[in-house]
Amino acid sequence: MDFSKIKGKIYFDNKFVDAKNAKIHVLNHSLHFASSVFEGIRVYNTKPLFLIDHLERLRTSAKIMGLKQPKLQNLVKNTNKLIKINKIKDGYVRPILFRSSHSMSPETENCKSILVIAVWKWGTLFSNNNGIKLDISKFPKLNSKIYPIQAKSSGSYQTSVISRINSRKGNYDDCLMLDLNGNIAESSACNIFWIKNSKIYTSKIHSILNGITRKAVIRICKKNKIKCNINDFKLKHLLSAESVFLTGTAAEIQPIRKILNYKFNINNHLIAFLKKEYEKLKTVGLKKTKDI
Ligand code: PMP
Repeated sequence: MDFSKIKGKIYFDNKFVDAKNAKIHVLNHSLHFASSVFEGIRVYNTKPLFLIDHLERLRTSAKIMGLKQPKLQNLVKNTNKLIKINKIKDGYVRPILFRSSHSMSPETENCKSILVIAVWKWGTLFSNNNGIKLDISKFPKLNSKIYPIQAKSSGSYQTSVISRINSRKGNYDDCLMLDLNGNIAESSACNIFWIKNSKIYTSKIHSILNGITRKAVIRICKKNKIKCNINDFKLKHLLSAESVFLTGTAAEIQPIRKILNYKFNINNHLIAFLKKEYEKLKTVGLKKTKDI
């Protein structure tokens, strides 16, 4: 799909414009210096799931990266208006904040922050119901000491992008990324969980994006008294798991069939339970994850 060809309206720098006119100059600061921050939000039955969490994360990312923070109520209003104008029932919202073309160096003093919100109809990320296959990236995930990893910023995705290119070359769907100390971090754009003896495990947040889906899954576990261990774990802990799954706004809860030659059970009852509970959340609409 060529996203530059989507139809309908895009919110572009304070106006709703025809998608074909939502353009920026090639000498845009964020294109050259990866200085944008963005979000991905799913729309289920016209309602954006965890909208406030995503928009608050966008505002936090903007603050961390020195971009001007848009007001939360304007973000909410314009996102909902855009979904309505474009008649989106099930889809994806992509708000992005980037810098204007007033600098071609890391200096940003004269740059304006521009907010764009786009929306499009969308189904599933991985169309594979039989689980997906991961390899292991040769690049470690950035950690919060060397990059503000809690900002969902374009700059943080570079190792994800090249790792994913390598995974696809090897006929894998995605890759597992380790942190600088060899602990499990996450995949190129999802958090990771695994199951052993009916207990669930996932990584700490120092080298991952603390996903909103991850938080929702942890809350589902807590609410249902399922033990969820959050810690630093080495690769061998994960590779000896019964089942492994990814979480993310786009991927939702995605079972993993294989990591390299290690096979996992994609039909684990706990995964099925979490998926069922996650489905229920889709009707929660505008509430924050905290309120679940
Ligand atoms: N990690 C990374 C690197 C991501 O890009 C994403 C997708 N935003 C996630 C984790 C999952 O986050 P969320 O559940 O908030 O979509």
